[in-house]
Amino acid sequence: MTDKKNYSGIDFFRLIAALLIIAIHTSPLSSFNETADFILTRIIARVAVPFFLMTSGFFLISEYTQNTKKLTAFIKKTLLIYAAAILIYIPINIYNGYFKTDYLLPNIIKDIIFDGTLYHLWYLPASVIGAVIAWYLVKTFKYPKAFAASAILYTIGLFGDSYYGISDKISCLNNFYQLIFQVSDYTRNGIFYAPIFFIIGGFIADKRQETGLLKSICGFFVSFTLMFAEALILHRFKLQRHDSMYVFLLPCMYFLFNIILYFKGKRHTGFKNMSLIIYIIHPMMIVIIRLFAKLFHMQKWLIENSLIHYFTVCLTSVIFSLLLTVLYNKCMPKKTKQNPGTDRAYLQIDLNSLEHNVKVLKEAMSADCELMAVVKAEAYGHGMYEIASHLEKIGVKAFAAATIDEGIMLRRYGIRGEILVLGYTQVFRAKELYKYDLIQTLTDHEYSVLLDEQGYNIKTHIKIDTGMHRLGFDTDEAKNIFSVFRMKNIKVYGIYTHLCVSDSLLDEDVNFTKMQIKSFYKVLHTLEQMHITLPKIHIQSSYGLLNYPELKCDYVRTGIALYGVLSSPDNKTKLHLDLKPVLSLKSKIILIKTVKKGEYVGYGRAFKARKDTKIAIIPIGYADGYPRNLSCGKGYVLINGHFAPIVGKICMDQLTVDITDIPDVKAGTIVTLIGTDGDKEICAAALSDISGSITNEILSRMGRRLDIVTNKTIDDPKFCIKS
Ligand SMILES: *Cc1c(COP(=O)(O)O)cnc(C)c1O
Repeated sequence: MTDKKNYSGIDFFRLIAALLIIAIHTSPLSSFNETADFILTRIIARVAVPFFLMTSGFFLISEYTQNTKKLTAFIKKTLLIYAAAILIYIPINIYNGYFKTDYLLPNIIKDIIFDGTLYHLWYLPASVIGAVIAWYLVKTFKYPKAFAASAILYTIGLFGDSYYGISDKISCLNNFYQLIFQVSDYTRNGIFYAPIFFIIGGFIADKRQETGLLKSICGFFVSFTLMFAEALILHRFKLQRHDSMYVFLLPCMYFLFNIILYFKGKRHTGFKNMSLIIYIIHPMMIVIIRLFAKLFHMQKWLIENSLIHYFTVCLTSVIFSLLLTVLYNKCMPKKTKQNPGTDRAYLQIDLNSLEHNVKVLKEAMSADCELMAVVKAEAYGHGMYEIASHLEKIGVKAFAAATIDEGIMLRRYGIRGEILVLGYTQVFRAKELYKYDLIQTLTDHEYSVLLDEQGYNIKTHIKIDTGMHRLGFDTDEAKNIFSVFRMKNIKVYGIYTHLCVSDSLLDEDVNFTKMQIKSFYKVLHTLEQMHITLPKIHIQSSYGLLNYPELKCDYVRTGIALYGVLSSPDNKTKLHLDLKPVLSLKSKIILIKTVKKGEYVGYGRAFKARKDTKIAIIPIGYADGYPRNLSCGKGYVLINGHFAPIVGKICMDQLTVDITDIPDVKAGTIVTLIGTDGDKEICAAALSDISGSITNEILSRMGRRLDIVTNKTIDDPKFCIKS
């Protein structure tokens, strides 16, 4: 389902995790019951740090992102915070006599890299080191191997942590760990502990199949119980040297994170900074409270009662973080988004309309059918980056591109969903299909054989030609199709056909379409008889859905309808969906002139003024995709809510309109070439019709030289910057 408000669970759990970490450092139940305190701080609270690491991994690590900028930005930010934290705690270091230890310099280096200069600060260098290791493992090996490698590191960590009692008894192991402990006080650090959590976080983000809530809850309880038993046994037999790493912590975190992702609602990104501040500042609060208690002789309450102590530390830390957040928001001016390139001609993309269309289309589709967003040709001229990244943000998981290069581009933009390449890809590019995890359309038998011979495990959808006579296997080729399912390397995930007159409701066209659908199902039936388990099936594109909504498929490949327009203005459809146009084409007047009666305008003197005429020059031409055959009064634009006809020939980069009767027009006045102005509208379908074409063609030719302006910033850290 569409859920743009996806991560509110993460936001809330950040605060919970921060409070759990305070518990680890204050032992709230210690004055009541040691075992209860062990359970709270050494078992339950042990989920907090992995949660933070997984959250970082969730937004940072991806098999698909090619852009190392994200990693460097993360490292820079974390190091900056670390540097600030080190400075803040220098007074406490001095008070503790930190600088009086022997071998000061080696100790400082060791602490800065692994242990932190105060006990809790180890987390920051660990997340930098962990992120780097996880990033390179995932980039080089993909998930299974990357996970295995990080699991080996984690295992080494385990035997220096909760299971140290075992390695302690084996002399060669013992020597090995003594060596490690010379460099890092614990194995709970950036090398052995952090990478695996980053990788699991990235994995969950990349491969998000909704693990059912019930399954996640059960999984969590089972693994938590096992971890509980594991911890108590290790504790009982005094095997723990330190107690932050358990075997069952891993499945426990996987399920917990899936449960957290289930909480949907408004995001509270402010909690991110708050939890960070709480994390960094709480040891300071502990010190301050101790001082305060000593000064006012309140040790009995504030210190000796561990629970009150805990709550006081929590309260003061939360208040402090709130104050700092408020102060920060007050002092830091809000970054206002500068829309680039509205000075000449631009496409205004309304992402709210896009969201609306997705919702409306999904409602029209059968319940378990998925929307496959067709974003070929720069998303029909709307800007592939802007459209696809927003669609992914609101929960669309399947995309279609025309070419392999468009598919690769989508991956570069950080798209993690399925990507089907609708067109033909040269077989020598098989490795790229595999590398970027693209799904290739199989166009015929010979091609399938060749692709299989390349030796890569490529995901594919088989295309069946049911009468369009473009790409696809013939319907009488069941044997050939069958053989594809049995091929060694390529894997079939889908089978589809394309309708060629689904936009027409004329009887003979409807009959033709029904014949196409029937022969497609006949092929499927034959395959079933050959004991093939059918993969996902799809038939409809936009008009397929609008005119044949009763078909039950696994996907609908929606292109033009997603963008809220019809192909031509007189298309009648069975379903009348309330779709909203996503794109407007705008420009600004750069110059106004008066042409005297008898004077000419433009190339070929195509316009001759019959009377004194006021014209406006607009900086957009056919090189921007605006059709040249709208010249000489065929086309018109909107200025201040009035229609202004185009005069003379449209040039490559400019055109002229008649504004004689329009009031208040100045240089700089906005011109609408597609879209609404006041109560008037120029719809893309009408404009395309006048120019003798269809909306699909006209829109898909735009978006190269035109700047794209959206009404939302696309700033989810998951998506890399367009480079
Ligand atoms: C372009 C394309 C679509 C999308 O068509 P719309 O009519 O824009 O929805 C669907 N399927 C295939 C095979 C395509 O090439």
